[in-house]
Amino acid sequence: MEVYDVAIIGSGPAGLTAGIYAGRARLKTLIIEKQQAGGQIVQTEEVENYPGALEGDTGTAIVNRMVEQTKKFGVEKLSTEIVDVELEGDLKVLKAKDGEYKAKSVIIATGAEPRFIGCPGEKEFIGKGVSYCATCDGAFFEDLEIYVIGGGDTAVEEAIFLTKFARKVYVVHRRDELRAAKSIQEKAFKNDKIEFIWDSTVEEIKGDGLVNGIVLKNKKTGEIQDIKAEDSMMGVFIFVGYKPITKLFEGKVDMERGYIKTDEDMKTSIPGVFAAGDVRVKNLRQVVTATADGAIAAVHAEKYLEGIE
Ligand code: NAP
Repeated sequence: MEVYDVAIIGSGPAGLTAGIYAGRARLKTLIIEKQQAGGQIVQTEEVENYPGALEGDTGTAIVNRMVEQTKKFGVEKLSTEIVDVELEGDLKVLKAKDGEYKAKSVIIATGAEPRFIGCPGEKEFIGKGVSYCATCDGAFFEDLEIYVIGGGDTAVEEAIFLTKFARKVYVVHRRDELRAAKSIQEKAFKNDKIEFIWDSTVEEIKGDGLVNGIVLKNKKTGEIQDIKAEDSMMGVFIFVGYKPITKLFEGKVDMERGYIKTDEDMKTSIPGVFAAGDVRVKNLRQVVTATADGAIAAVHAEKYLEGIE
């Protein structure tokens, strides 16, 4: 059976960049993806903040160029679902339904996914008014209304950030008290552009190509509010938590709140196993930080294989 130098699990920006660096270092490299390449970024209609992105670049366009780069460096790609891993020892074994793959080192780049609310219209309007990333999409809502869903640190911090662009930001929270840290709450309460809608859940997100309405339900009174956008469209930013995609690694590598712990060289608690991108414990989850992690992980995988580290 073939033994790879590096097996990369996940083909978002972190995994693809790790592939580019490992391939370029002439390591025998395999990227394993569950579905199509891209990760969360392919949900973004326009990526303005990735350095060097072209005008109008979509997440998919950027990812497609990364995929082409991996091919140029001879990286193999495989679409299958890994169902179990053996990471201890010199030879790592990745088990899929259709067989086993062996590698001397592994880079985990399985990413994270935002939690969905699960209401009608949510998935339909992703990238068309529904967003899970204020840094990525906030600028598209210049002078419009934005509804932020959630009451944790992310929701409230991002609501404050979104006031840079929006005319008005409504924070819709399912209780009458925020979960966010008090210091963050205070900033939001002082911000004239932010209004809170308490005890409310989202029943539906409506639109006609782009989001132009939201239906809220007050949990205490049962009252339904059918809100229409004052302009032709509005933003709905959903921050109800994230889930790292790490089930496979539970009890195998050190984690914190489900995210994989690494040092700054992307090394996990197991020699020869690295993690890169949104899957690891970190503060800023962006394409630019994911690609940086991927590069660092591949360089240190190479050093590990050479016995330098
Ligand atoms: P979180 O703390 O899990 O908060 C999720 C929020 O979404 C909660 O307010 C929750 O309501 C609400 N929610 C959950 N499911 C919902 C649903 N189905 N419908 C409507 N609302 C729903 O997530 P997070 O804000 O992303 O933060 C994640 C972690 O990162 C936290 O530990 C946080 O402290 C940390 N973080 C820290 C900072 C910082 O320190 N600056 C910034 C961002 C994140 P309930 O309150 O009713 O449960």
